[in-house]
Amino acid sequence: MKGIRGALALVPTEGEIDPAINPFDQWLLAARWDADRLELRPSPIHDTLGWKVCAVDACDRPAWGQKSSGLCKGCKTQWHSQGQPDRAVFDRQPPKRNCMKQPTACLVTRNGVRCGRSARTKGLCGPHTAAVSRSAGERDDAIAGLSPLPSLGPCRVAACDRVAYGPNLRLCRAHSTRWYSFTKVKPGADLDTWCQRENQVSDSRRVCFGGLHPRVVRQVLFGVFDRSRRGSRTRLDYLQSLVDWLRSSQATDLRSVRDTELPGNWLRGTHQILNSLMATTEYGNLTPEDLHHADVWPGVVFGKTGVTDFREISQWWLRDITQAWCWDNLNRFNNFRTSAAW
Ligand SMILES: [Zn+2]
Ligand SMILES: [Zn+2]
Ligand SMILES: [Zn+2]
Repeated sequence: MKGIRGALALVPTEGEIDPAINPFDQWLLAARWDADRLELRPSPIHDTLGWKVCAVDACDRPAWGQKSSGLCKGCKTQWHSQGQPDRAVFDRQPPKRNCMKQPTACLVTRNGVRCGRSARTKGLCGPHTAAVSRSAGERDDAIAGLSPLPSLGPCRVAACDRVAYGPNLRLCRAHSTRWYSFTKVKPGADLDTWCQRENQVSDSRRVCFGGLHPRVVRQVLFGVFDRSRRGSRTRLDYLQSLVDWLRSSQATDLRSVRDTELPGNWLRGTHQILNSLMATTEYGNLTPEDLHHADVWPGVVFGKTGVTDFREISQWWLRDITQAWCWDNLNRFNNFRTSAAW
């Protein structure tokens, strides 16, 4: 059965299955798909989407890949920047992060309602800091006399679920910083276009689909479901880089990106995921049995490469015999192109 891990073998589903829910929706539930936030947040122990947790005791981020030394990306960077200290000591210490903290809410509260703006200076938002500095009295009295302001709403980046930090840009803190560095390289860039295409802030425990066309969201999810039910693991960091690329290219259909140039920095795993998602989109729910008497056998449906086209045999009776023989000998070929040399 060498090389036959693929379409012929669907992994049996474990646990109680409610027959009223179709297998795809069942899978979405188990993979913790959040349709409101457009996020896939599987548990680390999910069969095909799970991960090995970072070796640092107080860190629960994923340690992806063999070369990670059991550390997540952030902890690995820290370990190197500290001169690779003894892991028995390093792994027991609380993790340090380079990324900035999420801002806290402004202190101003009245009748149990807190100010919706982020704190900037000494626990107060910008307008409230200005109000306190204008007042002549005690700071605490001045704060007590202030009214909470409404929130600035969500960050304008389509893929972001944080709240806006500043009233001018209406971006979260992380995206404000990214936008400033972006405009240094590309002065005069359009903020709205950037907000549609920019990546989320994430640490690969979840995949954020915000900003993708709804059809593409569905195609990607169904493709990952299809990989899962065939027993293929999907690394969330690879999947996220694929989703980020689909967002930045503003694709409306996975089939439309077939001949598009792919990012040069993609790892092999991301290419593999894209290929299998494209195949699922193209061939949908087909199984080898559906193609038993078809003229063309796309290898991918059989867990193979290449394509076998029986129309190359002009006489129908010879075509039938050849096809029957091929069906009985599927496992002889890993590349369906070679099977054309009957
Ligand atoms: Zn870590
Ligand atoms: Zn405030
Ligand atoms: Zn943001």
